[in-house]
Amino acid sequence: MTGFNTRAIHAGQEPDPATGAVIPPLHLTTTYKQDGVGGLRGGYEYSRSANPTRDTLQTALASLEQGTRAMTFASGLAAEDTLLRTVCRPGDSVVLGGDAYGGTYRLISRVMAPWGVGHQPVDLNDLDAVRAAVAPETTRVVWCETPSNPLLNVADIAALAEIAHAAGTLLVVDNTFASPYLQQPLTLGADVVVHSTTKYLGGHSDVVGGALVVADDELGEQLAFLQNAAGAVNGPFDAWLVLRSLKTLGVRMERHSANGARIAEWLLEHPAVGDVLYPGLPQHRNHEVAASQMSGFGGMVSFRLRGTDRASAEEAALRVCERTELFTLAESLGGVESLVEHPHRMTHASAAGSPLEVPADLVRLSVGIEDVDDLIADLDQALT
Ligand SMILES: *Cc1c(COP(=O)(O)O)cnc(C)c1O
Repeated sequence: MTGFNTRAIHAGQEPDPATGAVIPPLHLTTTYKQDGVGGLRGGYEYSRSANPTRDTLQTALASLEQGTRAMTFASGLAAEDTLLRTVCRPGDSVVLGGDAYGGTYRLISRVMAPWGVGHQPVDLNDLDAVRAAVAPETTRVVWCETPSNPLLNVADIAALAEIAHAAGTLLVVDNTFASPYLQQPLTLGADVVVHSTTKYLGGHSDVVGGALVVADDELGEQLAFLQNAAGAVNGPFDAWLVLRSLKTLGVRMERHSANGARIAEWLLEHPAVGDVLYPGLPQHRNHEVAASQMSGFGGMVSFRLRGTDRASAEEAALRVCERTELFTLAESLGGVESLVEHPHRMTHASAAGSPLEVPADLVRLSVGIEDVDDLIADLDQALT
């Protein structure tokens, strides 16, 4: 197999046979001429079922995750919805990390629950607790997000795969934060990789999308069935944008990781800052697991503000979010530009009052690929 960057640029992306165009064409078409009834050219019939631009992206993504099949969707949550409805039936349940993305938790606890699918949040670092929570009869999925959003916890993918498989259930890994450049969960035993391609895979904050990647053909068939039958597909232009972004994923992730590490180390020394959550720091509670399953630590950094009490620490966190100038105050992450946000009131507001609630004094940074000295200067003035 060729290297990651070579596959990112070439997998599924032969020059166009009709014209020689080096970049795969954007196929903005809903339907395809048939040569006689049922005489399909290349299997294309209708663009919900298949579109050449989407197919190219799916082929490239499967290659980057070392899977055999990928399916792409209109959003990360559309991908998750398709996955959950494919594998869960009424009476089944999902064991998920106690710090899963708020939107994932909302989908499971408020959309799937009324259809009879249960859920048990657990601390994925406590393997005995995971083992105890997994019920061989009813647990269909162990859902792991690593590193997690926004607490940057890291779960041991290989250990979770062993527990899930011993009970006959699937291990799903949301690989959005790491991207396949830093971590390839299927090679560690995961059954399904989930992505919000809105984040690092898209990388330029200009396209919303999602993906599922598997290495099992039968599961791939079942997921592809619902991708078409429910139809939450991404459009060709959205697929094309992600495909273009994949080509620079490796160089972007190197720079995100270098900038993230510098900023995490700088924050550690700052008197206004309490805990710094970054898996690349030796003092991170899961640093060893992170170092063994990731080839770098990415650009997501969270930190807590000091205060004399809860309210003043929250005030301090809100102030930082409002004072930065280069770091734009906004939801989402993974783009080339740096963003800052307050998870408790923004991305994770839907988890308030639930077991997945996040601390109010937490600030989350999506560290971009700007010059790191400028980013540090911006944080410095915002923290002063
Ligand atoms: C954003 C995000 C999602 C949801 O993806 P959308 O594209 O916003 O639907 C899922 N998981 C993680 C970790 C995310 O950051």
